[in-house]
Amino acid sequence: MAYVITDECVMCGTCEGECPVEAISEGDGKYVIDADTCVECGTCAGVCPTEAIKEA
Ligand code: SF4
Repeated sequence: MAYVITDECVMCGTCEGECPVEAISEGDGKYVIDADTCVECGTCAGVCPTEAIKEA
């Protein structure tokens, strides 16, 4: 399963630049991860300052 970004996202944008496959984009009120593109590396979860990114 891909990673998901929860409502704890404060839209800092940190994760977007760290994703190696560019699966993260700005959504409506929070950033979103494209599940089909995500390779489940976990990099984004490690850099999120609010721990908003979880394994689905
Ligand atoms: Fe990108 Fe890796 Fe996060 Fe998936 S787990 S969105 S591939 S940084």
